[in-house]
Amino acid sequence: MILRSAPSVFLAALLACAAEKPARPAASAAPPAAARGVDLAAMDPAVKPGDDFYDYANGAYMRTAEIPPDRSSTGAFLRVEEAVEARNRAIVEDAARGLAPPGSDARKIGDLYASYMDEAGIEAKGLDPLRPTLARIAALPDARALAAELGGTVRADVDIFNCTNLYTSRPLGVFVEQDLDEPSRNTVYLVQGGLGLPDRDYYLDATPRLAGIRAQYRAHLEKVLALAGMPDAGGRAERVLAFETRLARTHGSREDAGDVQKGNHPWTRAELEQRAPGMDWDAFLRAAALDRQPRFNAWQPGALAGLAALVRDEPLATWKDYLAVRALERAAPLLAKAFVDEAFAFHGTVLNGTPQLRPRWKRGLDVVDGAVGDAVGRLYVQRHFPPEAKADIEGMVREIRAAFARRIDAIDWMAPATRARAKEKLAALQIGVGHPDRWVDYAGLEIARGDLLGDVERADLFEYRRQLAKLGRPPDRGEWCMLPHTVNAVNLPVRNALEFPAGILEPPFYDRAATAAANYAAIGSTIGHEVSHAFDDQGALFDARGKLENWWTPADLARFQEAGQRLAAQFDAYRPFPDAAVNGKLTLSENIADLAGLAAAYDGWRASLGSAAPPRVGGLDPAQQFFVAYAQSWQTKTREEALRLQLQTDGHAPARYRVQAVRNLDPWYAAFAVQPGQALYLAPAERVRVW
Ligand SMILES: [Zn+2]
Repeated sequence: MILRSAPSVFLAALLACAAEKPARPAASAAPPAAARGVDLAAMDPAVKPGDDFYDYANGAYMRTAEIPPDRSSTGAFLRVEEAVEARNRAIVEDAARGLAPPGSDARKIGDLYASYMDEAGIEAKGLDPLRPTLARIAALPDARALAAELGGTVRADVDIFNCTNLYTSRPLGVFVEQDLDEPSRNTVYLVQGGLGLPDRDYYLDATPRLAGIRAQYRAHLEKVLALAGMPDAGGRAERVLAFETRLARTHGSREDAGDVQKGNHPWTRAELEQRAPGMDWDAFLRAAALDRQPRFNAWQPGALAGLAALVRDEPLATWKDYLAVRALERAAPLLAKAFVDEAFAFHGTVLNGTPQLRPRWKRGLDVVDGAVGDAVGRLYVQRHFPPEAKADIEGMVREIRAAFARRIDAIDWMAPATRARAKEKLAALQIGVGHPDRWVDYAGLEIARGDLLGDVERADLFEYRRQLAKLGRPPDRGEWCMLPHTVNAVNLPVRNALEFPAGILEPPFYDRAATAAANYAAIGSTIGHEVSHAFDDQGALFDARGKLENWWTPADLARFQEAGQRLAAQFDAYRPFPDAAVNGKLTLSENIADLAGLAAAYDGWRASLGSAAPPRVGGLDPAQQFFVAYAQSWQTKTREEALRLQLQTDGHAPARYRVQAVRNLDPWYAAFAVQPGQALYLAPAERVRVW
């Protein structure tokens, strides 16, 4: 349950070449002075706050901002990401000089980055780095070997409820995390995967737009197969698309995947064999190093059964074509230019509308992050995150946690028993600021300069084994899912913990030179957002230890869910395009967190004020500054294709509508004298109060 998805979550995981990161040159990396607190120049005073609050706060920015050609969007987050990226470039380039001792983290960072930057070396090798994999797939003799191939290539590449990555291009994803029913142990979650397009709707939805994308996808697969020198590329592409369509039919929806009550299916090993027949599970599990696991959590039982049935029913030749395509697509960003360009043309441009591939050094940073990101984060924190900033933000965290406790006390309808459990959970919430206390030990990972694909494959395997090593050990609540230099924040519901990485603790989200109103509005609302996830429609299902347990009285739960339904209806009514609306149910957890987080941040800010009156800024009184700074922290301009992809698959509503959470807060009406008849006006009884 993260604050925001990267513009393309699935691409970030799948294709470093198309993963979205900021694009400005390093020279402009420092946030502009106007971004401190409230940016008056970004506003449009001609717009009435009660008619369109987002445009009132950001109208001038929206008119002038240009999306860089290698990006699908731009805005406040990207400005911070650019600053962080420039710092990381210095870190990896220092490391790539090769002066660090062999085997050290700095040497691994530098060698991997140097491998990625060696374009001539990569070009000279062509498809060679992938040939052993393609040969192995082509030689698979029977269904048992196929099961072993599938098992041997699973990786820990999904994350159901921490950093929330529900996409994997492999037919199954593995996620190791605390057991939902027994918080003292870790368990293995098996997650659906294997589609080349973002999710099942892209295969099954009959609308002309998605049908058009499918046609372009088929053409893309044909080009990839032809580049690899496979005969009958057109016929193979057709068969792979048909196969993936059958796989998509077995998949659960994106909405259900994010619903812990629909996902939690603990199966014994025997149940796995009975309920998902057709796969040689013995061969699969042995190859996956999971053969000694007594139980699994089948997140989408239908997809697991469907996959096993396809292993039984589909011709081996079809499986071979399909696995070759998936291997080619996964490796493409690390291969010669023709593969990179074709991958970007489809995954970057067709799916996200991004016209231009990002510069190579930026993609290189993503590759390094994906393999040894914690080592980069450790150096980042040493250089760029002073202990004073950590202490300052921990003070804001205390205010906001206290404000949230007061809001729980103030809910008049809540039974004492529910209230006590909520406060117990709030008190137990573990809040990490900046970075974890312990770092990943990369001693067992071999990075060989010049062997790019091999390095990335070894890093993926290293991470898989690191995750499997948690099995049989109690969960570690101090472990982080985000990198310290990530510009984002997260709530980990099963660990009852929050992470605020050093990367987001930068202007305009946090700035020691800005007013308290602006800091509480920007980073404070983010802190409140993540605290609130502990109590949103999904988070409220977990107790203080992270056990999936209903701690609500039935009447309280009904009241809470009714408020959620009203908020979902509010968001269902937002239509960015005539033919596409926000999905209120898909985005409900995030919208509850935005609303409750903003309210708690506002309360925490008021409580933090001493007797001195806070200053006016550019004609705005302190409450107006608070709400404008909040709206500006969501400043975003997005290409149409990417916005449509977000509406379809992202648990977060577009930024403009996240800002409109203000409609539900009484102090916003007072601050801007919002009147009945204005577009955003809600009568007091229609305003949703969740917490
Ligand atoms: Zn969130």
